[in-house]
Amino acid sequence: MAKANLPQHRDAEALSNLLATPEITALIADLEATRWTGRPGYPIRAMVGMALVKSLHCLPTWTRTVVLVKDHAGLRAVLGCAPSLDACYRFTAKLRQHHNRLAECIESVLAALHDEHPAMGEIVAIDGSDLPAYANGQKYLYKNGPERKIYSDSDASWGHRSAISTRKGGGYYGYKIHAVVDVATELPVAWHVESASIAESAQVPTLLDMAALRGFLTSVAILDKGYDLPPIYETCETRGIHPIIPLRETFAVKAGKDKPPKCEHGPWIFAGSDAKRGASKWRCPTGECQPVSTWVKADRLHTLVPRRTDRWKALYRQRGCVERGFGRLKNEWAMLPLRVRRIERVRLHVDLTILAQLVTALAKARAAAVPLAA
Ligand SMILES: [Zn+2]
Repeated sequence: MAKANLPQHRDAEALSNLLATPEITALIADLEATRWTGRPGYPIRAMVGMALVKSLHCLPTWTRTVVLVKDHAGLRAVLGCAPSLDACYRFTAKLRQHHNRLAECIESVLAALHDEHPAMGEIVAIDGSDLPAYANGQKYLYKNGPERKIYSDSDASWGHRSAISTRKGGGYYGYKIHAVVDVATELPVAWHVESASIAESAQVPTLLDMAALRGFLTSVAILDKGYDLPPIYETCETRGIHPIIPLRETFAVKAGKDKPPKCEHGPWIFAGSDAKRGASKWRCPTGECQPVSTWVKADRLHTLVPRRTDRWKALYRQRGCVERGFGRLKNEWAMLPLRVRRIERVRLHVDLTILAQLVTALAKARAAAVPLAA
């Protein structure tokens, strides 16, 4: 179907390059070392290749991936065979058992991307996005009927998603991916899949710690209004990260408590922040007051990067990268529609999808860094 529109970086040659990257080669060697093939099976390299083909060709199912490879001489030549559907299922089952090997591979790809983009992960946006389950998403058995009690994916749950363009917001049954996306590369640096009913804000500490463990030195985190809760500010600030979050219209905001100090000479002017002190400095516009300036302790209402500054506005405008990142993963890398059930299978599917995207970005960055031989 979309074969004609497939970007050039996703052809057979691209697959061959990806399989040859040191990070993927290491994963193949790692998996081979587990010697899991009890029966004469397909080579591990071919199975890792199948997983890459699935995402590169934006296919939601293994069935379609198997059919594509069977009919595609170029892909078959790179893989050295056309693995069966059963082999694909056995491979994913084994990957779930050896998920730490896959995690190590993802970490090595991220570290290599970090080397290519030294500023990666410094300014990030965080958000959650809906992953509707491979299950019946009707809450009621029939119109005005009783509520559904049994779902075909019992790990999923009811969550809420916000409106995007022409799609209405509302309830959905499934999972949610929570992610930290680097604003410069628009690539995810940390992510986590949970059942949809789990609160987004609860994921922020886990995500920030995951990004830090992977060696990213985050200084700014951009989040939407849904995260405007005091613990989120604390979570960020205790890690030395500036939270960029718009205010909800709470009672304190309506009362104007977020406004800068003021005097008879007008509202005071922002004169810089001291992160160590955890406070921002404000001074009288004319300098006639005594004392001429004051320190305001950082909290939800008074952040170290004040909301009215141009810097805050410029940073907040970059939040869109997280939406674009999710959109790309869902539409161009087949993160959706989910065609697996149970949370550990959904997590594996998401990890494999993101790995394909990251390793493709890495191959591109490396190719751009090395001038082509004439
Ligand atoms: Zn004054």
